Amino acid sequence: MLAMLNKKETELLELFSEEAIQKRIREIAEEINAVFPKDEELVVIAVLAGSILFASDLIKRLHMPIQFEFVRLSSYGHDQKSCGNVKPVDLTLPGLEGKNVLIVEDIVDTGITANFMIDYIKMQHKPEKIKFAALLDKCCARQKHVDIDFRGFEIDDKFVVGYGLDYMGYFRNLPYIGYFPQ
Ligand code: 5GP
Repeated sequence: MLAMLNKKETELLELFSEEAIQKRIREIAEEINAVFPKDEELVVIAVLAGSILFASDLIKRLHMPIQFEFVRLSSYGHDQKSCGNVKPVDLTLPGLEGKNVLIVEDIVDTGITANFMIDYIKMQHKPEKIKFAALLDKCCARQKHVDIDFRGFEIDDKFVVGYGLDYMGYFRNLPYIGYFPQ
C-alpha cells in the first residue's frame, strides 16, 4: 500500500524532533495559561485532522477547565498546494457565545483556512475572547494576514509531514515533523 504513495518514511528528513516539539508545546501552554484565567472555561477547537496530535498534547498542559471540540475543514485534497478555498466538512459546535475560545491549527500556509475559521467563529458564535494557536507558521507563503497568538515554529515554504500532518492520509502518526528532499 505504501509503495503506491511513492514517498517513504525512510526518505524523510527530520525538521523538528519529538523532543523539540514537546518542549515547544510546554512553552506555548505556559503562554496560554498566562493569557486565559485559570478558573474560566476554555473551549479549545481543534481543526481536524492535522492539529489532532498538537491539540491533544497542548490541552494536557492547560490549567483551566477545558471543553475540547473539533471542526473538519479541507483545503488541500490530495495535492501538496492549498486549492485556495476552504471546504467546510463539519462545523458542528456547541454554543460559544460569551465563552473563551482557542482555535488550534497544525500549520498556517496561505492563511485562507485560519482566516475562514477565525471569521466564522467570531461572526456565528460571538465568543467573549478568541485566540489562535498554530504549531507551524509557513509565513513566506501567506496570502491572507493571520494574527497567530501562539506559534510553535516558523518554517520555509516546504511541504512537511508528521505529528498530525499527512501526505495523502499517511504519516500523521510520526512523533516528529519532516520533509521529503526535492
Ligand atoms: P492554508 O489555508 O493556510 O493554505 O492551509 C492550511 C491547511 O493546509 C493546514 O491546516 C494543513 O492541513 C494544510 N497544509 C498546509 N501546509 C502543509 C504542509 O506543509 N504539509 C501538510 N501535510 N499540510 C499542509
